[in-house]
Amino acid sequence: MLKGKKAIITGGTRGIGRAVALKFMREGADVLVTYAGNDEAAEITRKEAEAISAETGAKIFVLKGDVSSESFAGEAAAFGRENLGTIDILVNNAGITRDGLLLRMKADDFDGVVKTNLSGAFYMMKAVAPVMTKNRSGRVINLSSVAGVRGNAGQVNYAASKAGIIGMTLSASKELGARGITVNAVAPGFIETDMTAALTDEQKERATAQISLGRPGRPAEVAALIAFLASDEAAYITGQVIGIDGGMVI
Ligand code: NDP
Repeated sequence: MLKGKKAIITGGTRGIGRAVALKFMREGADVLVTYAGNDEAAEITRKEAEAISAETGAKIFVLKGDVSSESFAGEAAAFGRENLGTIDILVNNAGITRDGLLLRMKADDFDGVVKTNLSGAFYMMKAVAPVMTKNRSGRVINLSSVAGVRGNAGQVNYAASKAGIIGMTLSASKELGARGITVNAVAPGFIETDMTAALTDEQKERATAQISLGRPGRPAEVAALIAFLASDEAAYITGQVIGIDGGMVI
C-alpha cells in the first residue's frame, strides 16, 4: 500500500503513466502527473482520478511541461514539494519514439528522443534527489524497455535512450543507496498504449510472436510492478532492471 505517499509521475496522463497514477491513488498516494501537450488526455485522466479521490481521499495535481527542459524539471519538483508537501516517489515514465532506420535517421530524431527519454529522466532525478536525500528515504523507478536491453531494428535512438536509462539507474542506485533511496528500472516489452498503437499490423504480429504468453501486456500490469517497487515492502531492492514482457526476453 502507498497510503500517505507523495509521488511524481512524468507522462502520467496516458498509457502506462496514467495506469501508474491511478493505481497509486487507489493505494492512497497523492500524485503529481506531468504531460507534454495533450490537454484532452490530461482532462480524461483528471476526471477518472477525481472519481478515485472521492473514494480514497488521494489527491491529483496535473502539470503541463516538457521534461526535456531542465528548468521544467526544477519547476515540477518545486510544484510537487509545495502541493504534495514532500516527494517520496519519482516515476520517470515520459517517453517518445521517432522510429527509423539508422541510415535514414535524422540527427534531430536521435537527439530529440534521447533528450526526452534520457536527459528528461536525469533532470527529474537531479531535481528530486535533494528532497529524498533530506528525507533519507525515497523511491525512483525509471522506465527502460526491452529495446534498451537487446536493441531493436528501427530504434537506435530509442534503444540508446533506454539503455542509457539502465546505466543511469545502476549508477544512481550506488550513489543514493546510503541515503535510503532505491533506484530501479523496469523494462516492459510490448504494452498496449498509444505508443504501440502507432505500429503497423505486421510489426504488432512480429512482436507478439516473440512473447511466450502470446499477447501484449496491459498498462495496469506494468503499474502493478511499479507500485510494488514504490512501496515500503520493496525497501531492499535497488539497482535492478526488472523485465515485464510476457517472456519476450529470456
Ligand atoms: P504513451 O505515448 O502512451 O504516453 C506517453 C506519456 O508521456 C504521455 O502522457 C505524454 O504526454 C508524455 N510525454 C511525452 N513526451 C513528453 C515530454 N517531452 N514531456 C512531458 N511528458 C511527455 O507512452 P507509453 O505509456 O506507451 O510509454 C510510457 C513509458 O514506457 C515510456 O517511457 C516508454 O518508452 C516506456 N515503454 C513503453 C512500452 C510500450 O510497449 N508501450 C514498452 C517499453 C517501454 P502527452 O499526452 O501530452 O503527449
